[in-house]
Amino acid sequence: MGGSAVPRIRRPKRAASLRHVIHKPHNAPAHVRNWHGRAENPGQFASVVDRPGRLFAIESENCMRRTGCFCAALFLLVAASSRAAALERSDVVFMYQADARTYSEYGATVVAWGGTPRPETLEAAKGLRFFGSVGMVTEFSRYYDRFPTNYTEGLCRDIDGQPVKVPWLTDHQHRGIPYWWCCSQQPIFRQYLRERVEETMKAGAHGLHIDDHLGTAGGLWLGICFCDRCVEGFKAHLKSLPPQRIKELGVEEPAAFNFREQVRQWIKADKTGNRKPQQHPLWPEWTVWQYRAAASFMEELHALANQIAQRHVPMGANAGLLWAGHLSDYKALDLFSAETDHHASARRFSDLPVFAYRLAEAVDRPYAATASGGDWAFVKENNSHRLVQGWIALAYASGQLFMAPHRQWCYTPEKGTHWYTGPTDVYAPLYRFVREHADLFDGHETVSDIAVVLPHRAYMRTPNQCQELCAKLAAANLSFRILLAGDDIVDLRLRAEDISREKVLLVVDRSALLDTDRKLLEAHSKDRVVVTDVDHAISATQPAVRVQSPAPVRILPRARAGEAVVHVLNYDYDAASDTVRELSSVRLKIDQVKLGISPQCTVSWVPFGGREQQLKIEDGHVVLPKLNLWGILVLKSRI
Ligand SMILES: [Zn+2]
Repeated sequence: MGGSAVPRIRRPKRAASLRHVIHKPHNAPAHVRNWHGRAENPGQFASVVDRPGRLFAIESENCMRRTGCFCAALFLLVAASSRAAALERSDVVFMYQADARTYSEYGATVVAWGGTPRPETLEAAKGLRFFGSVGMVTEFSRYYDRFPTNYTEGLCRDIDGQPVKVPWLTDHQHRGIPYWWCCSQQPIFRQYLRERVEETMKAGAHGLHIDDHLGTAGGLWLGICFCDRCVEGFKAHLKSLPPQRIKELGVEEPAAFNFREQVRQWIKADKTGNRKPQQHPLWPEWTVWQYRAAASFMEELHALANQIAQRHVPMGANAGLLWAGHLSDYKALDLFSAETDHHASARRFSDLPVFAYRLAEAVDRPYAATASGGDWAFVKENNSHRLVQGWIALAYASGQLFMAPHRQWCYTPEKGTHWYTGPTDVYAPLYRFVREHADLFDGHETVSDIAVVLPHRAYMRTPNQCQELCAKLAAANLSFRILLAGDDIVDLRLRAEDISREKVLLVVDRSALLDTDRKLLEAHSKDRVVVTDVDHAISATQPAVRVQSPAPVRILPRARAGEAVVHVLNYDYDAASDTVRELSSVRLKIDQVKLGISPQCTVSWVPFGGREQQLKIEDGHVVLPKLNLWGILVLKSRI
């Protein structure tokens, strides 16, 4: 939203690596992975989280001997902590700036999206980490005012050379001019964006948020952009490919290749007149190039922000991970603060957001979610505040975050843009609960019962299928993590230690794996249960926590050294009354070994809105006293 009143919300569903070099916390269960303290060079050091937000990087003996203890440790601490600082799991994140009182009521710690750093907004947000927002699609009016005489140079062009309106801003105009989609390959628009980043950082923002971070690539589904810059850039991309690949693509002379002309002729040659640019045989390669170009520009903007601030600036983006294609620039990002469809109109809690949360975990980035404009319109229309309470609880129980819904953009085709003001008395207590129990969130990692090996290529081809498969695991109360395998768009490879850590692997479309990943998977999964079907996966998996309940609940176990927390969410939501029905007689069967907890442990129940109490564990069984929306079972090894 770029700090302006121009909203942008749900993208049509089109399109979706830093290595995981972090070693598990000492004494943590083998299948717990730690997102903190990742570094770029696997095997160089191990990291240990000793308390929330603190990270100690311990270099390997060899490296210590080589470079000297102090300097090496200092370097590694700085390198490791830069990303760890982006968000803590117990942070309370605001989407837009608010007043000091509202921040205080929620216990806010971060403004992660649409802030405009000014003396008064920074003063109101004193003590918070304040991200300034820059938008690649929503700021047309500002861009126009910067370049009123030559703004047309920076516009995207369709195959006929015409500019293209931003589909969700068709009701917006500036000085009688529609909101055109601008091309992030064009020098004039790049200059505008660089200036915006520069002024945002100079104004005192702690971090940077980029809305519509894919720029031109975000409009691929519209059949853009065929401006001169894009056509020239593709030519250069083709020239850089190996000869064999160029041959496979059927390109005879890359140096003289004009994709725009090729597509025009191809469309003209079809007598039915139904051909669209997106159907051209080279469109997939064009897509790869557009995503890479977008990622490269994001890297450039991040470097610019770092240079101006003279430090590592945490950078986030509205990379909603339920939109395939949005991981293409993940290496440029420290966090995702993003729109995530919660399917409010289904009038029940959804399991789909868990997919986005696990995908973010797979690339070791925190994810602060908000719902879509359609979701917020539904909530406003139906006063479904407690539906939103469930969304908040699910995000935190998954180890991610849900941005405080104090003011949300709503959108329906009929009503257009409108706003929802979330009642503080309904939502703030949830965030205060998180802050009061920060030690139950920070430093804990997902305990996985099963891993989903997901080729990014498969996600791009069949996003809904991949999401639904994972939602089915979540609904079966299997705690999963995603092992994401990269492709030409996402630079990430499978790792042997991630595969070896899991007992059950659900492999989605093995044919979509790169050869190196396929070989690695085969080499390291010989003594694992490997399945390709979700029903088979469910029957083959022995979860760490099983539940017996008279109504639907969700179990999300997490752990750190010596402690496990089992989040229990009540999914028995009644839309008519907008309430969650209280449950009693919920029984859990816990495998302490799988949770990394010793047989001798203490057990306590920490319910949202209730009093903490000690519980007994007998032969692995625990009976919960009662369950409203959300409670956390805490198991601690006795020392
Ligand atoms: Zn272009």
